Amino acid sequence: MPTSIKRILVTGGAGFLGSHLCDRLVKQGHDVICLDNLFTSQKSNINHLLERPNFEFIRHDVTHPIWLEVDEIYNLACPAAPGHYQYNPIKTMKTSVIGAINILGMAKRCRAKVLQASTSEVYGDPEVHPQPESYKGSVNPIGPRACYDEGKRAAETLFFDYHRSNKLNIRVMRIFNTYGPRMHPFDGRVVSNFIRKALAGTPIDCFGDGQQTRSFCYVDDLLDGMMALMNGPDDFIGPVNIGNPGEFTIRQLGEMVIELTGSKSEMRFLPPTPDDPSRRRPDITLAKKHLNWEPKVPLREGLKRTIEYFRSIDINSFRAPTPHY
Ligand code: NAD
Ligand code: UDP
Repeated sequence: MPTSIKRILVTGGAGFLGSHLCDRLVKQGHDVICLDNLFTSQKSNINHLLERPNFEFIRHDVTHPIWLEVDEIYNLACPAAPGHYQYNPIKTMKTSVIGAINILGMAKRCRAKVLQASTSEVYGDPEVHPQPESYKGSVNPIGPRACYDEGKRAAETLFFDYHRSNKLNIRVMRIFNTYGPRMHPFDGRVVSNFIRKALAGTPIDCFGDGQQTRSFCYVDDLLDGMMALMNGPDDFIGPVNIGNPGEFTIRQLGEMVIELTGSKSEMRFLPPTPDDPSRRRPDITLAKKHLNWEPKVPLREGLKRTIEYFRSIDINSFRAPTPHY
């Protein structure tokens, strides 16, 4: 049990990362409020928590103000997969920006510590590789990814302005591609798509020539980093990269998924998507130094666990949040 039980709000708490975070916080004995509009998730992620006395769920949209009394806030509410955030780009921008304003306003009133789930997308299609936090990024402000990238950049700005203007105790983490159990099978992200298609024996669609790279972090490692940042020293507020520096081409990922599932699926190469970052890899020097954090789970091991999860679920019980998968 923790020495002090806190009232903790997790926005986006029914989502992939949020539900794992709620699990950990409930287990630690905190009083947890999970707030979510269930746009890209479903209650099955948190059903097992609903009967717990220290957990409550509020169906609410962060673009509307809400009055709660809390000690800490993890602000995760935002569609994260490209197909989902591009489905209603104006809503995505509102979620990041108006959502941040509402949550920061609450934090200011309660004097709560507040963590923002930012993203490697703030670096855009990077010219600097790997990406350190000091890199200012290369984002197309009018492209199809801009609603997410610029929304998250504006949210970072708001967090730092509230910190400077109101002495708010903030944390900002830049999350790199994360995968694991409870990814929505129809979120359209590369790991879930490849596993779902490999298990179904259908072609694995690769957008472009498959030479673009990503660095994939297993969810348990990511959560360790997130909580280390929230509970770490008040003089280290970020922004800090949290991700796995192992870098793989999308083609390598596809080949690994085919091998680990024993699938007969083949890779199919389709035209690339616009503004797709050609490479991405975190420089995690700051996280190592200030949080004593680095990821432990190699891609092959994390994929095995994720494949096991996908084998265990009834795919027909999932509703596709948007037509883009
Ligand atoms: P997710 O889509 O599974 O979770 C996001 C949750 O936010 C969902 O439950 C969704 O219903 C909820 N939500 C969306 N809009 C909302 C709104 N207006 N009001 C209330 N709830 C809303 O995605 P995730 O992977 O768990 O991502 C969580 C956070 O981490 C997001 O902010 C995302 O931008 C960030 N992030 C994730 C990754 C990753 O690889 N998973 C990478 C970078 C950043
Ligand atoms: N991708 C792919 N096939 C898919 C889904 C994604 O080839 O079914 C590619 C996508 O074009 C990108 C990479 O995989 O180059 C990672 O995509 P994802 O949507 O997971 O996240 P991103 O890092 O682009 O936000």
